[in-house]
Amino acid sequence: MNWTDIEVDLKKKLTPKRFRHTMNVVEAADQLARTFGCDPDQARLAALLHDCAKNLTDEQQLDYARQHQLKIDRVSQNDPQLLHGPVGAVLAKECYGVTDAAIQNAIDCHTTGGKNMSTLDKIIYLADYIEKDRSFPGVETIRQIAETDLDGATIMALTNCICHVAQCGALIHKRTIDARNDLIIKTKNLKLK
Ligand code: FE
Ligand code: FE
Repeated sequence: MNWTDIEVDLKKKLTPKRFRHTMNVVEAADQLARTFGCDPDQARLAALLHDCAKNLTDEQQLDYARQHQLKIDRVSQNDPQLLHGPVGAVLAKECYGVTDAAIQNAIDCHTTGGKNMSTLDKIIYLADYIEKDRSFPGVETIRQIAETDLDGATIMALTNCICHVAQCGALIHKRTIDARNDLIIKTKNLKLK
């Protein structure tokens, strides 16, 4: 599917608010890609499709994940909407014809983060977090850091996310902890065995 066809399809499937969010993420991802030396077309397509599974119900997320042998851990069992990343990655391939594994992976880990995030993964994670309609406390600081330091901004976003989820009394996803640990180990150059 070409860009216009995907956009038309998503406009039909997503709520107006979610569609607007999606287009804001495209804009933010484009900017981050230009700043951090990633292909803007690749970042824009990953951003366009990042929430393509967000219209599915909890039951549909679980069904789809089971049908495609996706891992359903305890945290996702409890909150099936966490699966919209991994499910979206499969939909991107099967429904929208995206063959680029880097794009699929960025969609896969956009909600929780993941192990050893690539530049594109970080860009989509961050763009989703700081797009212009986001207004939670601390977002302005992360936006500022994201102008020069992709790893620093991603670590801060992951930290914020973990604190917020913990504060709400909810379960914290392992992939988020892994993502943050990996980035801290890498950026601080910690020598660990
Ligand atoms: Fe999402
Ligand atoms: Fe999103």
